[in-house]
Amino acid sequence: MTVPAATQRNVAEADADVIVVGAGPAGSTTAFHLAQAGLNVLLLEKTTFPREKVCGDGLTPRAVKQLIGMGIDIDAPGWVRNKGLRVVGGGMRFELDWPELSSYPDFGLVRTRQDFDEILANNAVRAGVRMLQGVNVTAPILDRSGHIVGVTAKKDGEEVSYRSRLVVAADGNSTRISLAMGLHKREDRPMGVAVRTYFTSPRHDDDYLETWLELWDEDTLLPGYGWIFGVGDGTSNVGLGLLNTNEAFKGMDYRDLLKRWVKGMPPEWGYVEENMTSPIRGAALPMAFNRQPHYTRGLVLVGDAGGMINPFNGEGIAYAMETGHIAAEAIVQALARPTPAQRERVLRAYPAMLKDAYGGYFTLGRGFVELIGHPGVMNFATRHALPHPHLMRFALKLLANLTDRRGDASDRIINALSKVAPSA
Ligand SMILES: Cc1cc2nc3c(=O)[nH]c(=O)nc-3n(C[C@H](O)[C@H](O)[C@H](O)COP(=O)(O)OP(=O)(O)OC[C@H]3O[C@@H](n4cnc5c(N)ncnc54)[C@H](O)[C@@H]3O)c2cc1C
Repeated sequence: MTVPAATQRNVAEADADVIVVGAGPAGSTTAFHLAQAGLNVLLLEKTTFPREKVCGDGLTPRAVKQLIGMGIDIDAPGWVRNKGLRVVGGGMRFELDWPELSSYPDFGLVRTRQDFDEILANNAVRAGVRMLQGVNVTAPILDRSGHIVGVTAKKDGEEVSYRSRLVVAADGNSTRISLAMGLHKREDRPMGVAVRTYFTSPRHDDDYLETWLELWDEDTLLPGYGWIFGVGDGTSNVGLGLLNTNEAFKGMDYRDLLKRWVKGMPPEWGYVEENMTSPIRGAALPMAFNRQPHYTRGLVLVGDAGGMINPFNGEGIAYAMETGHIAAEAIVQALARPTPAQRERVLRAYPAMLKDAYGGYFTLGRGFVELIGHPGVMNFATRHALPHPHLMRFALKLLANLTDRRGDASDRIINALSKVAPSA
């Protein structure tokens, strides 16, 4: 592809080993680890920080582990710690602490994405990453063999282009760059939709993440859950997520469902229209590797771009950061190899690394999602499983993917199931 003359002067100044498209948690984490290894990294973000990202703002111990690994100061003001999950359903309300494990800390966090993403991006910049904001990546630049060797973008209304040895797609669910490289989403994977808003509330400093397992549409129990997460700044993040494995999914008015759900809550919690501090917003949850392959022709996929959300619980931030870390390791090794063929061999192993890490577990998650999509299954589970504390502790470990490799009996069962489940 030829680069228009008007943009050529921008090319030299933007040369990098790796271009990372998107400065969400996946992009900033990838960029951070690449820069730590001494690579020249250009992080391109279409928005300008601080900016909103529609999210529940909940971080499990898996996410906390990644933050600690990047040296983020989680003792600084603004991080709200939580001890575990409070489960509401089947007429019950109980708390489950995060498990004590050697692999993960025993606490989670809440931080709005308004701050969170900027903190991670600035951390990458401190590590040596060059970040350009307000740069909307529009298309790949391809060489004769069809490999991506850079991107074109819109910046201040002008077309610009940047070149690099590799490009990372960290541009979230819409991932325009992956689509332009012919990577479309797989229809055989579950998809979720989630909506959320904020209310000023006396419950803003709750030290448990609260989940409601019963979301009713008339007399149908829906496959999904509602959440109430205290943000610690006077507000609660209140939202719900649903899966597309049920007929009710089609044509559902999620905003209205959220309004109906909070209407049934005690008035003293303050979850009423007058206390809403932002409109109800929603977005898709791409799950269980819904876009593959995760490496092709110079393009590496991380986070939502590669459909890395955990189908069991809709958690995506931890997986965005983890896959960013894994991708960075593969890229660092690949770029140290002297020949293109050797580099390609390392990069082609990245999808297999992801499958080793999550493949079997995500397959179990897909089975779980199918199961709870059947009318009656959610109902049966909330009535018969919730009263059993042992079963619920097991469920927490399974759904949040929190086990030690050589842990207790439940850890070993979950690990064994994940290992035998085929990875796809
Ligand atoms: C309502 C809702 C609630 C959720 N709650 C939680 C939760 O509580 N906990 C949790 O772990 N997960 C949650 N998730 C999932 C989580 O938000 C995502 O999994 C996570 O944001 C994925 O991170 P990412 O970096 O891959 O993508 P994103 O966070 O989407 O970041 C992509 C970045 O790329 C930028 N970008 C996009 N296109 C371009 C372009 N063309 N050029 C340049 N830049 C571009 C975007 O501006 C953005 O900054 C929730 C999702 C939703 C919708």
